Amino acid sequence: MSILSWMKFSLDKDDLWTCCHQCGAVLYRKHLKDNYYVCINCNFNVYMTGRQRLESLIDVGTWQPFDEMLSPIDPLNFNDQKSYIKRLHEAQIHTGLQDSVITGTGLLSEIPVAIGIMDFNFMGGSMGSVVGEKITRLIEYAIDNGLILILVCASGGARMHEGSLSLMQMAKISAALNIYQNQSNLLYITILTSPTTGGVLASFAMLGDLIFSEPNALIGFAGRRVIQQTLQEELPDNFQTAEYLLEHGLLDLIIPREFLKAALYEILHIYKKIPFRRTGYFNHYINSNNILIEETWRRTNIRIKQSFFK
Ligand SMILES: [Zn+2]
Repeated sequence: MSILSWMKFSLDKDDLWTCCHQCGAVLYRKHLKDNYYVCINCNFNVYMTGRQRLESLIDVGTWQPFDEMLSPIDPLNFNDQKSYIKRLHEAQIHTGLQDSVITGTGLLSEIPVAIGIMDFNFMGGSMGSVVGEKITRLIEYAIDNGLILILVCASGGARMHEGSLSLMQMAKISAALNIYQNQSNLLYITILTSPTTGGVLASFAMLGDLIFSEPNALIGFAGRRVIQQTLQEELPDNFQTAEYLLEHGLLDLIIPREFLKAALYEILHIYKKIPFRRTGYFNHYINSNNILIEETWRRTNIRIKQSFFK
């Protein structure tokens, strides 16, 4: 087998090599991981899976997943070129997830946090009923336990296959966040990654007390072409980029991936020291790859065992 055909074989198998989504360069996965999933050739932030982001932010062995078995149904019996059920099934096999967000608790450089991470690989990170429900439950858990909340966003918006049931998640999450931020006075940080658009941007992504983004991330509500046609004027080249939004005061900071965990630690460390803080601690989670065991363990143990102090 020639080197080229071996690389093609590896690409097809999707294990050793991958392609940069921007410049098309063939990248060795291990080198890509070592470089924080940034293309060595063109500096593009390659799309990361939820699990990869989790590994890059949460300390090893401290992750406690929530609601991993919560699966979507097809309330509208929706069909386009394919049925919604078939799309869901394919996405579940492709990603190993039940829906496009993972939620749970863990330690970020030894500081306890409640964290939700969206995965763009699952139907474009779209938000349906399950995503809304999981994020709402996470917020409620964070309220109950005085935890810092971090949501990492990557989404094409609300999921049209569930119609208005998807849209109502925007209001549901925002209402939970109102209690979290304004009644419990807790800290909520959002990290916008490329792309963060539509209903996700129009609800919880933009409600962070601190809103961070990755460099060059695409962030916007409607598509560029729609806005251009509506306004009937030319838009700047960097329109709907993180840099443009930062310039116009919609973001607090743009942080490259390699510094993200360190920057979050610095902020949380300062927050920990303020007098009205509420801090939690965790019993370390049993190491298991079996999601059924994880889910059962969470339901039966965490709320009872966990204790907090003010
Ligand atoms: Zn590249």
